[in-house]
This record gives sequence, structure tokens and C-alpha cells, in this order.
Amino acid sequence: MPGEKKELSFYENVLAMYDKAAALSTYPHNLLETIKSTNSVYSFIFPVRTPNGIVEFEGWRVEHSHHRLPTKGGIRFAPHVNEDEVKALAALMTYKCALVDVPFGGAKGAVKIDTRKYDTPTLEAVTRRYTVELIKKNFIGPGTDVPAPDYGTGPREMAWIVDTYMTFHQGEVDGMACVTGKPVTQGGIRGRTEATGRGVFFGIREACLQADDMKRIGLTPGIEGKRVIVQGMGNVGYYAAKFCQEGGARIVGIAEYEGGIYDPKGLDVDSVARHRRETGSILKFPGALDFNPSGPVLEQDCDILVPAALENQITSDNAPRIKARIIAEGANGPTTAAGEEVLLRKGCLLLADMYLNAGGVTVSYFEWLKNLSHVRFGRMAKRFDERTNTQLIHMIESASGKKFTQEERTAVSHGADEVDLVNSGLEETMITAFHQVRETWKQNPKVDSFRTAAFINAIHKIATTYLELGIFP
Ligand code: NAD
Repeated sequence: MPGEKKELSFYENVLAMYDKAAALSTYPHNLLETIKSTNSVYSFIFPVRTPNGIVEFEGWRVEHSHHRLPTKGGIRFAPHVNEDEVKALAALMTYKCALVDVPFGGAKGAVKIDTRKYDTPTLEAVTRRYTVELIKKNFIGPGTDVPAPDYGTGPREMAWIVDTYMTFHQGEVDGMACVTGKPVTQGGIRGRTEATGRGVFFGIREACLQADDMKRIGLTPGIEGKRVIVQGMGNVGYYAAKFCQEGGARIVGIAEYEGGIYDPKGLDVDSVARHRRETGSILKFPGALDFNPSGPVLEQDCDILVPAALENQITSDNAPRIKARIIAEGANGPTTAAGEEVLLRKGCLLLADMYLNAGGVTVSYFEWLKNLSHVRFGRMAKRFDERTNTQLIHMIESASGKKFTQEERTAVSHGADEVDLVNSGLEETMITAFHQVRETWKQNPKVDSFRTAAFINAIHKIATTYLELGIFP
């Protein structure tokens, strides 16, 4: 259609968003180009024996930036993944890590596979063989490149990866740090599975607390009572929905692969998840309206839309019909540059992916630190803190004559365990980064969006690293 904005590929979108922010920065052109460019792309084909014979799988590992090592980024198992997508995701990882002060370069990996078509032993064989390909070319290791879960993978795949890595690196004392998102029994950390969704919640909650921003978009301050639609009930979407519900929001719509449901009175997230497990679909959930395909659910009445499935979901095509005032990007790249332009014209607040879903890599960083230090967070201090706090309670009681209830006693004396520290570190990271980005956004009238402000902050942090190396005059 004449005048309609052309949709770019995912990688082109990331480059366009970067260029928009880079144009507002004062760093030298060659430095900005260095930060933008992708450092290494490894693509390979590997054969795996499946119940239906030998199948050739296509795999990638892209390391976008070596300005800090190791590089870090998830592994995606998806049927339509391609090199452009992996490059886009790797670049986003660089900016995301910089934004939340996680000292890694960005990377991403993928295997082109429809996981629903294969049994568990085949998925295990694919994961292990993929890991061997990475080992052969030095694209994995605690100090080189550290994968994590992404779309289509989870703790199970991470356990296979670390086991394969250790088979080839027996005696490597820090070997467990070659991958994060592992099960807790395999060197993982408590709180990692739900970290991305929890971070999404912290980011939304903080954004909703800014009274003047809420006024500008026509909402009242606070997350309580906000109507939320979530796309994708996987790792990110499920936990984001669950924590938003626990925080007082009302989940009114859920979109999944097989269709969508909408109920303005509210959907209980765990009941929907149970219904899906029992029936194989979220459709026909009692009291809710069905949508099949799920696309139109995103356009229903709500305050906050959380796309938490895949990229390119909000485009110039459907953006005009979206009613949400806040788009909270749980997924990577769910809004195209052209879609974003429409939403910004409508005055929406877009909480950009590179900030909002950074909770996963933040807690992955904590897991990596735990693996390198070989000790569970909280192990040394927990009992000591509890004893000190209990003594303090006794002293206050005898000085004041007041007796604490058992509940109060437990709340005050409790020493921090691993999960307490992880969640507290995550909350601190999300809130600090939010205000850093908001500050950049509010201080510069040329910065038209939260995303551009986030890119500017990331560019600044990466540029500083290069400048300190003295490479650029
Ligand atoms: P996942 O595989 O656990 O879940 C994705 C869900 O989306 C699945 O339930 C799938 O059925 C659903 N889905 C697929 N296509 C859909 C469609 N068209 N409409 C509605 N639902 C659809 O994946 P995940 O780990 O939750 O990742 C989701 C997104 O979040 C990805 O963009 C990923 O890159 C990003 N992300 C994930 C993490 C993490 O820690 N897992 C961290 C940061 C960003």
C-alpha cells in the first residue's frame, strides 16, 4: 500500500533501532560501527540418527561482540530459525548485558528443529551433538562463550550440554560454568527458571509506579487492577503472567500457539496452565471467549500487552488495532521498527525487550558466579545472620518489654538463602536499569522512546570499554 512502511528482517530491525540511537550519540563513527558489527558467525550441519533415519540438522552459534568475555546468550530450538534471526538475537544480547551491567559480550545459538516432532532421546542426541560441534570450534567454555535456555530449550537441555562439555573437559574445575540455566542439582541456581518472567514483572511494576508517565498514557499509577494480555505461556510468558497476577494485576487474555482466550473478569494463570495440560489446549477454558487463530486476542481491550512468544508479532499491520497503552516486551524483538512507529504515534509506552527480559541473563550471571566460586550463595552467612538477628530481637524485647509474635520473630531473624539473594539481586538490577534508562529518556528531548534510551545507555557502556582500551582515539 502506498505510504505503508516496509517491514524489515529481524536483524535489519535491530540494526535500524541501533542506528536511530547511534545518531544521537557523540562517539566516533568507526567506534559506533565496531559496536554494531557481528564478530563471529559459525553455521554448521550435523547428522543425527532419529527413529525415522538419519536427519541433517542446521545449527548456528553467533558471537556478536567480544568486547567482554565470555560471550553469553541462549540456544533456540525452533522450526523456522535462520541466520538472520540468530544474528539479531546475539546483537540484542550484547546491548542487554551492557544495559544491566552484566560483564559479558552477546551471543546466541540455534538449531533448526521442530521439537514437537521428535522424542526425548532424539532431542538429547541433537543437543549433545550440537554441543560437540561448539566444543570442536571453541564456541563454548566458561571463559569463552556460555549458552543458556531460550525458546524451545530449558534446564533439561542445559543439563545435557554441561554433561557433554564435562565429558570432553574432565578435571576442568570451572567446567560447570560452561552453560547456565541448569537444573539446581546439576550446578544451577535457585530462581533461574522463573527469573526472566520475574524480571518482566519487576520492570512493569516499576514503570507503573511512575505517576507522570502513567498520567501521560491515561492510566492510574500502580500495577494493581491493570488488565494484562499475555502472548505465549512458555517460560517467560507463564512466569510474567503469574507474578503480575500475584502483584495485583488482572490477566484478561492469553494467546498460545493453538489459539487464544479472553475474559474481562480475569483468568487464573495456574488454572489455565492446568486446563492446557489436561486438554492439550488453552481453548474452551470455562467462562472465556475463544479466538482461533490467536492473533486478535492481542487486539482486545487491556492496559498492558506482554508479547512473550516470538519476534515480529506487532507490526505496522496489527499495531493500529492494539488497544494496550503499555507494550511490555517479554520476548526478543516482538515489535518491528514499523510497528513501533505506529505505537509511538498512538502515545504508547514500550518497555523494550533488551531491558525488560534482562532478568534471565542477570540470574544466569549469578549462576556463572556461583559455579566459579563453587559455593551456594547464602551458605556462609545465613546461620550467622539468623543468630545475630535473634540476639537483636532479645535485646529489643528486654529493653522495651514488648514481646514479638512468632511471625514477626521469623520475619526479622530470617537469614538470606540463595533464592532470597538471587531475587533481591534481580530486583535491584531491574529497578536500577529502569531508572538509568528513564533518566536518559527524560533528559534528552530528541530521545523519543524507552527503547532508544536503552540503546543509548548500552552504547555508552560498551563505548567506554573500548575507549578505556585506547583503541579509538
Ligand atoms: P518457550 O519455548 O518456553 O515458550 C514460548 C511459548 O510461546 C510456547 O508456549 C509456544 O507454544 C508459544 N508460542 C509460539 N508461537 C506462538 C504464537 N504465534 N502465538 C502465541 N504463542 C506462541 O520460550 P521462552 O523461553 O519463554 O522464550 C520466549 C521469548 O522470550 C523468546 O523471544 C525468547 O528469546 C525470549 N527470552 C527468553 C528468555 C529465557 O530465559 N527463557 C530470556 C530472555 C528472552
